[in-house]
Amino acid sequence: MDNNSIRIPLDLPDVRVLEVSKTDQGAWLIRVESTLNGTHCHQCGREITHFHSVESAIRLRHLPLFEMPVFIELRPKRYRCPFCEGKPTTTQRLSWHELRSPNTKPYEQWLLRMLINSTVADVARKLTISEETVAGVLKRWVSPQVDWAEFDQIEVVGIDEIALKRGHRDYITLVSVPLMPRGVEIVAILADRKKQTVANFFNSIPSRLKGGIKRVCTDMYQGFVAAAVLQLPEVKIVVDRFHVAKAYRACADTVRKHEVNRLKQDLSPEAYQQIKGAMWPFRKAPDDLNDDEWALLERLFTYSPKLEKAYTLREELTEIFERAYTKTGAKCAIRAWCKRVRKSELDEFESFLGTVDTWLDKITNYFLDGWSSGFVEGFNNRVKVLKRRCYGIFDVERIFQRLTLDINGYERFGYT
Ligand SMILES: [Zn+2]
Repeated sequence: MDNNSIRIPLDLPDVRVLEVSKTDQGAWLIRVESTLNGTHCHQCGREITHFHSVESAIRLRHLPLFEMPVFIELRPKRYRCPFCEGKPTTTQRLSWHELRSPNTKPYEQWLLRMLINSTVADVARKLTISEETVAGVLKRWVSPQVDWAEFDQIEVVGIDEIALKRGHRDYITLVSVPLMPRGVEIVAILADRKKQTVANFFNSIPSRLKGGIKRVCTDMYQGFVAAAVLQLPEVKIVVDRFHVAKAYRACADTVRKHEVNRLKQDLSPEAYQQIKGAMWPFRKAPDDLNDDEWALLERLFTYSPKLEKAYTLREELTEIFERAYTKTGAKCAIRAWCKRVRKSELDEFESFLGTVDTWLDKITNYFLDGWSSGFVEGFNNRVKVLKRRCYGIFDVERIFQRLTLDINGYERFGYT
C-alpha cells in the first residue's frame, strides 16, 4: 500500500467487503456479502437457515466518499422454509437496507437531512440524482398524514389559511398544534378552507384527544369558526392577536399611503425630501426606533397630524394586548380604544371597527388564560415560516411531509 492511501471502515453491519473498484463513471463500487446465516420466513415468521440460493446482484447508492458516488453491490441470500407448505423461500434482509429501496438507509437519512429547509429540486441537483429519487426517499420515510398515536394530549389547535400563490384565490388550510414551551407540530394540511373540510378533519381526531382540546386559535374566518363550533362545541375559540394586529396595522398603513400621497402634492420638493423614507420607521414600535428614525417620524408628524394619530392609535392597541388584562378588562379597554378611533375621524380604520364589533368576544378570549405573548408570537412566527415554505407545492400530502421534515427532521434523521 502506498503512503498516499487511507483505510476506513465501511460501517455497515453484517457484511464483509469482497472487493472495491471504480466504475467507468468514476464511482466507487464496493462489493459485499452478508455474514449472517438465515432469515425469518415471510409466511410463518420462524427462523430458517436452509440456504436456497443467492439472487442476482443489486447496486445500492451509499454515502459518497470524497464527493465521489459510492455504490454497494450485494447478492442477497435466499432461504427455504422447511415448515411451511410448498417450502417457500425468503430473501434475507439486512438492517441497513429497506426492501425495494435503491439506496442504503444511511444514504437516505443523509438525503433527508439535506432536504430539511430545502427543496426537492435543490437536493436533486446537489446530489446529482433525479427529483423522483428524492421524492421517493421522502415518501419512504415521512408519512403524508399525522400519526395520532404520537400524541398523548392536545389542548390547543391552531388553524391557518395559506394562499398557495401570492394573490391567488386557492387556499389550503394548515392545522397545527403548538407545543410548550416552543415549537409546533403540523397535524394536517387540508386541500381547501371550506367549513365542511375543516369539520371533517376535526371529526377525524380520535375522541380521546378530541375531548381534551380546550382552545382553537384561528384567523377571523367564519368557515373555521363554524367548523370548530360544529365539531368541538365545548372549545373556546380564540382569534389570534397577530391576525388582529395585521388588520389594524393595515389600516394605519392605508393612512400612511394617503397622507404620503397628499404630502407629495402639497409640499415643495425640498420639504418632501425631508420626510422620504419614513415608511419603515412608521411601521416600527417606538421602542425599536433609533434617534434618526425618531427625528424622521417627528418631521413627518409635523406635516401630518393625522399620521401621528394613526401611529398612536395603532401602538395603543398593541399595548392593550401586551398587558395582563382579564377578558372583561380587555373588552373595556378595546371598546374605549374604538371610541377614540371614532373621535379621530380616521376613515381608514372604519373596516377594523366593524371587525371588532363582530369578533370582540373571540378576540378577547386571548386574555382568558394568561398565555405569554412570547409563546404565542413564537408559535406564530413558526407557522409563518412554515406557510412560506408551502409556496409552489400543490400537493397537500407533499406539503405535510415537507413541513414535518422541516420541523422534526434533525431529531428523526440527525446524527446520533
Ligand atoms: Zn415458514
